[in-house]
Amino acid sequence: MQFENLNIIEPILKALKDKKYTEPTSIQVKTIPLILERNDILGSAQTGTGKTAAFAIPIIQHLYHNESKRQGRPKINALIVTPTRELAIQIDENIEEYGKYTNIKHAVIFGGVKQTGQVEKLKNGVHILVATPGRLLDLINQGFVSLKSVNMFVLDEADRMLDMGFINDIKQLLKLLPEKRQSLFFSATMPDNIVELSRKILKNPKKVEVSPVSSTAETIRQYLYYTNRSTKKDLLRHILRNPTINQVLLFNRTKHGADRITRELIKQKVKAAAIHGDKAQNQRQKALAQFKAGEIRVLVATDIAARGIDIDKLGFVINYDMPNIAETYVHRIGRSGRAGEEGVSISICEPEENGFVKDIEKLINRKIEVVTENPFPQTEKPMSEKEKREWEKEKLRKKQEFFASRKKMHDRSKSFSSSRKVR
Ligand code: AMP
Repeated sequence: MQFENLNIIEPILKALKDKKYTEPTSIQVKTIPLILERNDILGSAQTGTGKTAAFAIPIIQHLYHNESKRQGRPKINALIVTPTRELAIQIDENIEEYGKYTNIKHAVIFGGVKQTGQVEKLKNGVHILVATPGRLLDLINQGFVSLKSVNMFVLDEADRMLDMGFINDIKQLLKLLPEKRQSLFFSATMPDNIVELSRKILKNPKKVEVSPVSSTAETIRQYLYYTNRSTKKDLLRHILRNPTINQVLLFNRTKHGADRITRELIKQKVKAAAIHGDKAQNQRQKALAQFKAGEIRVLVATDIAARGIDIDKLGFVINYDMPNIAETYVHRIGRSGRAGEEGVSISICEPEENGFVKDIEKLINRKIEVVTENPFPQTEKPMSEKEKREWEKEKLRKKQEFFASRKKMHDRSKSFSSSRKVR
């Protein structure tokens, strides 16, 4: 199948050639004709399948046809709502690329940054608005955005949207959207609450499904190192000695952990940066841009921050910890080998995480290859429940001790400076 067979207009085909897309992905083949025929869509697909182009191309095409008949300042005809800033930016970048030979105007709005630039762009008029829910409602309330002219609505990553607690924002948005519209609804998973939400949004939708979460793992070569908690850092250093690992996205569950690993890597003269929820938006964007430009070798990310990062041809993913939810593993490794490219995932497992491997292997229905050439093999056993409790207690005690000593130091320096003032 070729893009030419999907009735796509010449200006978009030309842009796709520039992007060097040779043929449409499965979701694109299935979805583009249905959207062009003005159907509502219930799409079960995750990031990495080519889903963005699957909805962005036909939206641009509809608008291109409409716009030739219209004059004046563009109004928002298509609204795309997505849960994270990173996803919003990437969708907007894709629209820019696919629509570069058309006259379609677009903008992206998201929270965590000043609204001035975003408002300026909106004032000039846009056909397509990509938005995260909070900033969108905010700008609607301030009168900078009107949804009255929207006739195409996309809800992207609906499951993540609910996970992140956006349900009330979505309900509010639905009240503001015109009844007569085409709606496209995408979600990686389809639990009952998502299906229920989709019913409120869609009319006679066509269902489209591509690669359920567990099957993404099939195109990726997966390796597993068993080690001890205390030797993870050394093992990582050993793994990164392999020069073929030119760039890697490294996952860590916690923000503190991500910072710690990044510091350690920088100390070892490995170019690294962390992205997570505590980093400012411009820091995250800078790190991502540097990574994309090849200036950073290891991008350390937490699960939420990494969701939606779109990096072409990312070869390697490292799991610095084994996720306790098997689906998270599939999402993580799905960041490599995107759109049919081959990828490699390397997981590091400490004794406490041994049990998670079994859950993951059950979900992906295959064994992960254990690397035997491992200078830091696992020698310790997982803790018993009693040991775990003791360990947690000890951890808490140390933390309290640390804070108490910091407080003491702080009090001492305060009394020292006030005594100097007295003198
Ligand atoms: P998405 O699922 O929208 O996040 O897309 C995943 C990645 O696949 C992005 O980097 C796209 O640029 C890329 N992509 C989308 N469609 C195609 C295609 N037909 N051929 C090659 N790459 C594609």
